[in-house]
Amino acid sequence: MPTTMPTQKVTGLENDPEKPKNRSHTFLGEDVAAPVLAWYGRKDRPKNDPVTKLIQLEQRREFEDVRGEIVALVNKTVRRWKLVLTWVAHTELDEPTEWNADLRPDWRKAVAAPEQVLAFVGCLNLKRLGLLHRIRRCACGATFFARFDHQFAHNDQCRLQALGADEARKVARAAYMRQLRRARKQLLMKKGETR
Ligand SMILES: [Zn+2]
Repeated sequence: MPTTMPTQKVTGLENDPEKPKNRSHTFLGEDVAAPVLAWYGRKDRPKNDPVTKLIQLEQRREFEDVRGEIVALVNKTVRRWKLVLTWVAHTELDEPTEWNADLRPDWRKAVAAPEQVLAFVGCLNLKRLGLLHRIRRCACGATFFARFDHQFAHNDQCRLQALGADEARKVARAAYMRQLRRARKQLLMKKGETR
């Protein structure tokens, strides 16, 4: 009987934050975000889609405390979908000599569309990484995973356009302030005349 302790690799929970990333060209969370983006970008998502709701609620958390709403939504969805995760062993595509085991949805029990379930599980895995708020929709309508907190446009072209809009807003604001100052000055002059 082998007396050696098992190596750490036995956990291998898919997208586990503890699991080291061996592919340096992907940003943390990018692979986890893939099924979320695939679903969130679809035009035929059902109304009241829990994935969409969850992503949007997480965005709102920047401005208000909606944690109760989120917790209720997630737990209700898990119950309604009879979402059960099960261990699946597989060989590793990018490591020819390795195999691993991940927790994946049990399709014999799930009642929602596979793409929707994968997106939902992806959202929760992103949350565990602290990256769910990085699923964003660009002003152009494209959905994307922000590699950095400050990234709000999905590509350079949209970023420059957004900068342009910001510049236009600044110019309009400056013009408005000038107009306000002029009006105030005129008012003061009038007051001076009547004295
Ligand atoms: Zn865009």
